[in-house]
Parts: sequence; structure tokens; C-alpha cells
Amino acid sequence: MAQPSMQSSYPGVHSEVRQFIGGRSRRMLIDGKWVEAASGKTLTTYDPATEEPLAEVPAGDKEDVDRAVRAARKALESGAWPRMTPSERGRAIWKLADLIEARTEEFAQLETLDNGKPLAVARVADIPLVVDHFRYYAGWATKVEGATIPVSTPGQRVFTYTRREPVGVVGQIIPWNFPLLMAAWKLGVALACGNTVVLKPAEQTPLSALRLGELLEEAGFPPGVVNIVTGYGETAGAAIASHPDVDKVAFTGSTEVGHLIMQAAGASNLKRVSLELGGKSPNIVFADADLDQAAAGAANAIFFNHGQCCCAGSRLFVEQKVYDKLMPRLIEHSEKIKIGPGMDLTSEMGPLVSSEQFQRVNSFLSAGRKEGAKVATGGGRPKQFDKGYFVAPTVFTDVKPEMKIIREEIFGPVVCAIPFKDPDEVLAAGNDTTYGLAAAVWTRDINKAHRLAENLKAGTVWINCYNMFDAAAPFGGYKQSGFGREMGKAALELYTQIKTVWVDLGAY
Ligand code: ADP
Repeated sequence: MAQPSMQSSYPGVHSEVRQFIGGRSRRMLIDGKWVEAASGKTLTTYDPATEEPLAEVPAGDKEDVDRAVRAARKALESGAWPRMTPSERGRAIWKLADLIEARTEEFAQLETLDNGKPLAVARVADIPLVVDHFRYYAGWATKVEGATIPVSTPGQRVFTYTRREPVGVVGQIIPWNFPLLMAAWKLGVALACGNTVVLKPAEQTPLSALRLGELLEEAGFPPGVVNIVTGYGETAGAAIASHPDVDKVAFTGSTEVGHLIMQAAGASNLKRVSLELGGKSPNIVFADADLDQAAAGAANAIFFNHGQCCCAGSRLFVEQKVYDKLMPRLIEHSEKIKIGPGMDLTSEMGPLVSSEQFQRVNSFLSAGRKEGAKVATGGGRPKQFDKGYFVAPTVFTDVKPEMKIIREEIFGPVVCAIPFKDPDEVLAAGNDTTYGLAAAVWTRDINKAHRLAENLKAGTVWINCYNMFDAAAPFGGYKQSGFGREMGKAALELYTQIKTVWVDLGAY
């Protein structure tokens, strides 16, 4: 096996990051203890800017998931966690946010080294959003309420009320595009509602979740409340989805794996499922939009995080009348983006996360060309790089509705631009997809904007903006982009179950 060696060529790597990658990452968290995989196996993560091995983490599998589920069950039903008051739970979540915030630089560097994203972005977007997200759900811990129900039992006084109880042991399987933020989206609400967790980060980017695990005890979480099992999807992930003692599985990732999770959940114990899956989001620019704003917005919609966003605006619909005005502006934005290693603070776009993704995106680029689409800019790895999974921001034109590049999720910095004539036409085209995660509309016409917002079949619609997120605003999919809403009050539904209690108070 390749011997991981921390990249010494980067200046300014935090000493904690070096130490963590140099050894502590070889253990995962089960029942409050740092342990190796039962099999003793490890997996290697790579720095996508250099293609060099970065760190080793345990390659956990079924046996480790079993141990973690047992720990989570024990922590749910006995010990300190179920006895902690909601206020104490909330304070632990808040403290976790403080501990992460105090280590913003360290976490940002871990994200950059593992995922490839620019450090400048991780510092101001990923990590602050994580902190804010935990703080938001810290507040919810004391507000998970039941109700009193006015029942109509004849001749009898009855007191009926509901309790909102935790779902139980929850398995959470997360992707590599925003490693720590996806952990936060899953953990914050689960903990606020009193559940216990087995979290599996993506095999490409497990480091920040493991580092977060090191802060849990200090934050005040008893052992076994959060267990972090690293490993591959087909082994550790599949073991969570099919485990008979996991009460709920929450998954963010590809639609293809979403199908597998659902099948495993059904075949095992009918565990509850929530899925946040892929997308092919329409981004619609009308002629009456502020075109400078729309062009910048269209670039941000697809190139933010290198297009590795499930909500990326990968289908750009431009009203015919302004197509020739908008496209040069979009291309100019695309060509101005500075590509380079994430650890270089001047980089605006880093490499894709892995060799697999690099090959996948490149195969879409070839398929697009072969099917007759035109590359208006970009189209592969920029010439200045001979290694690293870099792909230039790419704009395809002359795209036909049946082409693979317009129908399938690419998950890279590749946008297809398509002209349209009127709102009905673009609405039909925008909805012509199996996905339904997000959509955007750029226009100064308030009626048109809201009409489109109503009729676009997507879980989020942005008007004159894109990629806006807030811990308080629900996010999730229509159609095969999944179901269940994360964030906001809506997410409490996924992590609680209602118990109805009837009390006979005697006859009137
Ligand atoms: P991508 O294709 O973008 O890498 P995936 O959907 O494969 O995304 O991965 C998202 C998460 O799902 C990762 O944590 C991965 O390990 C996990 N995963 C992959 N395959 C399975 C599976 N068969 N069962 C459960 N989890 C899986």
C-alpha cells in the first residue's frame, strides 16, 4: 500500500493538521473510544491537487458497524444521554459549535487537503456554515414539543396529548462534496432531538468528521451518542442501511445509491429513510433580468465547489432574445476563474475530489462532444497542470434535449446552455428531468418569477440568486432528488416520532 506522506510543499499547514493526519486519523470513534477497524484494515485518502496519498483511516465494515450500533443503542437507552435535559443537550451542541469555531483554520485545511476545495472558500463558507448550523439546532433542543388534542369521547373526560420522541438509533451516510457541513446537517438535528448516531463519512473525505469526533467529549456528549465509522460505501455504508437495529437511515449522495439504501432499509427492518440525492437543476434567465447579475449568478450556480453540488445549476436556459448578450459574459466569468491547488490562497477553483470523479467528468465531456454539442470554453484539464484532478470551467452550447450531458448529473464544472422562447416552453423543459432538487429564475417581472416558482417541480427555487442556504431554510428534493427536508424546523420531522397518550379522567 502507498505510504501516506503529508504534503510538506504547502506552506502554513497547521501543526494540529499535520499531527492528526500523521497518525490519529487511523482510528475511528466507537462508544467513546478511538479504535481501529476490527479487520485491522485501513483505506488511504488522497490529496486531489497532487494525486499523492494524504492519510490513512480505518476501513470499517459490518463488524465495526455492529459495534457502533450496539454502542448507540446502549447510549440511547441507558447512561447519561437520555437523562440529560433538553437544555443540557442544547448546550452540548452549542459548545461543539464553539470548539469547531475556535479551530476554523484547522478544519478548513483538513477540508481543502482531503476534498480539494479552495482554503479561502472553506474558511469563509464551509466552516462558518457548520458553526452556524450547530448553533441553530442547539436552540431547537428545548423546543421539541408535543400538543394537547381536544378529543370528543362521548360522556367521558379524556386528556389526550402527544409527545415528540427521538426516532432512536440513526445511521447517517454522507458524501464528500461538503464533508463537515454534511456531517453538521445530519448531526445537529439528530442530537437536538435526542437520538444517537452512527455517522459514516465518505471514503474520499473522512478526516474532518474524525477530527470533529475528537471534540465531542469536551463538548459534553456521553460515549456512544455519536459514533463515527469510516469505510467504503459498499461495506460500512451498506451495513448501516441494512442493519436490523438502526431505526432510521439518512443519506446524502447519488440517486443510484439512494435506490440501494431504500431497498436495504425495506428488506431489513423497514427503518425510516430520508434521502437527499442528485440533481440537474434548471437555471432560467429571462430577457428582462439584470444580465450582469444573471451571468455572474449562472457562473456561481455551476462553478461553486467545482460543480460538485447536488443543486448545481447545470442546465442554463437563456431567453433567445438575450442569448448572444449573456453567453459572452458567462464565458468571460468562466475564463477568469483562477484554478489551482486549494491550499494556494489565490485559487478560486481547486481540483475535483478524486480520480474517479475526474474520469467521470471527462467521460461526460467526451460524450458531449461526440453527440455534437459545442465546447464554448473549457473542456478538460487546463494545460498548465500535468497532475491533479483539475477540470476547467466548461460551457457546452448546441445541446439537444436527448443528449447525455443534459439528461444525467455530471457533478463537475460543466454547464449546458440552451436558448428558449417563452415561459411555458422553458417551464416544460426545466421540469423535463427525473430530478427536482433546485431551480432558479432570473427576471425583473415579479409575476413571472412567482408563477415559475409555483410551477417548477423542485424543492428549492431561487429568484435572482443561487446557492443561498441558511440553517433555518428547509432543503430537499422533489422526484428522484429524494424526500425529507433537512434544515429548519422541517428536519425535526425526520428525527422525531409522535406518541399519543390517552388519559381517562372519568365520567362527566
Ligand atoms: P458519489 O457517487 O458521488 O461518490 P455516493 O452516493 O457513491 O456518491 O456516496 C455517498 C455516500 O454513500 C458515501 O459515504 C459512500 O460511501 C456511501 N455509499 C456508497 N455506496 C453505498 C451503498 N451501497 N450503501 C450505503 N452507502 C453507500
